[in-house]
Amino acid sequence: MENLHVVIGLEMHCELKSNSKVFSDGRNAYSDTANINVSPVDMAFPGILPVVNKYCVEEAIKMASILHCQIPDVMIFDRKNYYYPDLPKGYQITQCSKPVGINGYLEYDSGNKIKRAIIHDIHLEEDSASLDHLNNTSIIDYNRAGVPLLEVVTEPCFNCAKDAVSFLENMIKIYQYTNISDADTKRGQVRCDVNVSLANEKGEYVTPRSETKNVNSLGNIFATINYEEKRQREAYFNHSEELVQETRRFDEDTQTTIRMRTKVDAIDYKYFIEPNIPPFKIEKEMVDKIVNDIPELPLSRKQRYLNEYKLTEEDANTLIKNKDLSDYYDECIKIGIDKQIASNWVTVNILGELNKSNISIKDFYITPNYLKQITDNILNNNISSKQAKEIFAKSILENKEPNTYIKDNTQLSDESYLRDLIVSIINNNLAQKEAYLNGKTNLFDYFVGQVMKETKGKANPVITKKLLRDLLNK
Ligand code: ADP
Ligand code: MG
Repeated sequence: MENLHVVIGLEMHCELKSNSKVFSDGRNAYSDTANINVSPVDMAFPGILPVVNKYCVEEAIKMASILHCQIPDVMIFDRKNYYYPDLPKGYQITQCSKPVGINGYLEYDSGNKIKRAIIHDIHLEEDSASLDHLNNTSIIDYNRAGVPLLEVVTEPCFNCAKDAVSFLENMIKIYQYTNISDADTKRGQVRCDVNVSLANEKGEYVTPRSETKNVNSLGNIFATINYEEKRQREAYFNHSEELVQETRRFDEDTQTTIRMRTKVDAIDYKYFIEPNIPPFKIEKEMVDKIVNDIPELPLSRKQRYLNEYKLTEEDANTLIKNKDLSDYYDECIKIGIDKQIASNWVTVNILGELNKSNISIKDFYITPNYLKQITDNILNNNISSKQAKEIFAKSILENKEPNTYIKDNTQLSDESYLRDLIVSIINNNLAQKEAYLNGKTNLFDYFVGQVMKETKGKANPVITKKLLRDLLNK
């Protein structure tokens, strides 16, 4: 039997985070109340004109440059004409003739292996309204109409469902690290068109590709690819059906895909340049400034953790799960906590605490500096690791910095404090000092006893004895 493999190309849509919509001053915000974030432009009232949101263009350029795309020197929008009830204008403003980025690539991590996705283009466009079909009624919410969308189109460069989904996971993290989008799949901010076909060992396509539209979670995308692979294999080998290039949709209940239309009924969108938006120049200085503001991205952080800090894959993956956590860890290293020790605290104790109390690292009481109070005292043998965990818990519970408990509950190792104490004890016991110096060496223990009495037994005995030996013989 011929050896076939699956080939996947993705069109990933992601809603941008911005104050207002991409071509209007309607608010871009998620709302449970329908039709409150709507401007006349979003409703396509007669006489309205779109105005390009500069911030959205900058964010689009940011993503284009992260994807190593060529960025054109002018920004041009196109009109894509079709009728649908969720599209009041009868057309969508998108980019087709000159997308904001073309011919790029992205290195991504799939199962701890670095792979490369080939990017065909990235373009900026507007979202449609959201339509919901109830039993006898359909309802429409224009809050989403005109929300900025970035669409990233990959080449058919993935050869298994896992790689395609890993690529999307990497993209979602990049959107979040750069703050371009929350990329929250639960709120429908990420949607994908999933293109699948089968190829032989020579790389020739042997089945026409199917395009499954608007799949909205990583789990569903994974299921779509696996179902399509299976369906096309059966059609190819067992002639269970005749395959044609077609558009399908994913059915969540049955975890299968269902035909919507074939290429024969493909829509002709009659694209032309959007006449209401004059093309405008993308200045090089603007691009440079945007590129400069890109923070270190998750994959680069992961490689730093692995190669320079020698952390395990597992710990590195945990630390880069979100930017705030990774920033926290980086701050720990910056102020001098050991890389491995910091990693252990963050991935075990701190994450455990955050999960338990369901708060984010940004609101966590123990700052990197407080953590350092704990880790320094472990390193000095001032507290045991068991005590450290108790202090950590107490500090969170009572909102008091770890040092409070370290002075109160544990060995006193502060040399200058002990030195002052010992000097005053000696000055109050000059006769004993004299006798000690004249050969009554067992009086040494008398002095140790005095220090312990004064410190309620907390003085570090090693340091106490060392200081006593120095100070008595002076
Ligand atoms: P169209 O313009 O007809 O919609 P494109 O050729 O631009 O199609 O491709 C759209 C998407 O389909 C891209 O993500 C691309 O990678 C993917 N694609 C194209 N050919 C195949 C194929 N044979 N198998 C899987 N995906 C494909
Ligand atoms: Mg599109």
